[in-house]
Amino acid sequence: EVSIRNLSKSFDGIEVLRDVDLEVKSGEVVSILGSSGSGKSTLLRCINWLETPDRGEIRINGERIGLQDKTQKPMSRRELAKVRTQLGMVFQSFNLWPHLNVLRNVTEALIYVQGLKKSDAVERAMAFLHKVGMAEKAASYPATLSGGQKQRVAIARALAMQPKVMLFDEPTSALDPELVGEVLSVMKDLSSEGYTMIIVTHEMDFARNVSDQVVFLEKGIIIEKSAPEIFFHSPRSERVRRFLELDK
Ligand code: ATP
Ligand code: MG
Repeated sequence: EVSIRNLSKSFDGIEVLRDVDLEVKSGEVVSILGSSGSGKSTLLRCINWLETPDRGEIRINGERIGLQDKTQKPMSRRELAKVRTQLGMVFQSFNLWPHLNVLRNVTEALIYVQGLKKSDAVERAMAFLHKVGMAEKAASYPATLSGGQKQRVAIARALAMQPKVMLFDEPTSALDPELVGEVLSVMKDLSSEGYTMIIVTHEMDFARNVSDQVVFLEKGIIIEKSAPEIFFHSPRSERVRRFLELDK
């Protein structure tokens, strides 16, 4: 469960997120939509503390992460590492290590961050590679994989850390159209298994079918937050209506 209150973030004096409030219950899937530059990535990066918010509070399962105010003492490396282990993040660009094979891409952090024995790390990695349909490619190098396969490995790598929440930043937008489905299908499976997920996406059908809540960001402000039935059929805001028109 993720609880975000009054989250604000500026870059060079320009407010990119303004008083964002968002509650994501355990097992819920929240899709974040919005035009380019609306602050979607910044929101995910703040949740993961890849960016330090200026104000506001983020709680994961009730536990506050980071500090309320930038003027206070920043988080120690150790605190930061602890936060990061609770959140798995998947990016648009797959960010696999090119010099490591698929299996080692997944085991590396299990061994060096989580301190697992190599044999345990391999066992866990193989289980998650299996989950995303990539077990048979364990010995392959990233360069030999399709974009969809790389993204599935990136998802397995994040899942293997057993985070409380999975964050996805446009995981399919760098993929050729015919490869999008295999990645969305893995994500859909995760949602049915009860993973808590926050997903920035442009895939409207996916957002409609898989989300519990759909959030629309505009200039750093949440202007609509509703169940998908409402969001896609009778949004309250004119801006969202226009956005959906454009998508037809
Ligand atoms: P897109 O759909 O194109 O990915 P987005 O909704 O993810 O857009 P963000 O990447 O969150 O948008 O960016 C929001 C605004 O903040 C943009 O105006 C961007 O230029 C600015 N911004 C983001 N990161 C930084 C940074 N590190 N330094 C300065 N400005 C930034
Ligand atoms: Mg973005």
